[in-house]
Amino acid sequence: RNFIKMIPAACAGLAIAPALFAAPATVSESDPAAAALNYKANAKAVKSPKYAAGQACKNCNFYQGATGSANGPCPLFAGKLVSSNGWCSAYAKKA
Ligand code: SF4
Repeated sequence: RNFIKMIPAACAGLAIAPALFAAPATVSESDPAAAALNYKANAKAVKSPKYAAGQACKNCNFYQGATGSANGPCPLFAGKLVSSNGWCSAYAKKA
């Protein structure tokens, strides 16, 4: 009897688990940290004198996403993902 009572509790625990393993959210351009660094999800939309054509997160030294990934982690935006085609003013060409 006690075992049967425990089943719904165990199921509730399993329902919460996927949320813990879900991929982090992508950085919003309106995020204060993103706005401070002039981050744009599409590098081509950048209007900054520091930006040069061809620069994008995917070829930035800070980008930690796998090659060919749509987005990936960047230590400047801890806990969030940046677009591989994004750009921010901390861009540093991959060595
Ligand atoms: Fe993209 Fe590099 Fe800026 Fe991170 S530091 S958001 S990888 S340009």
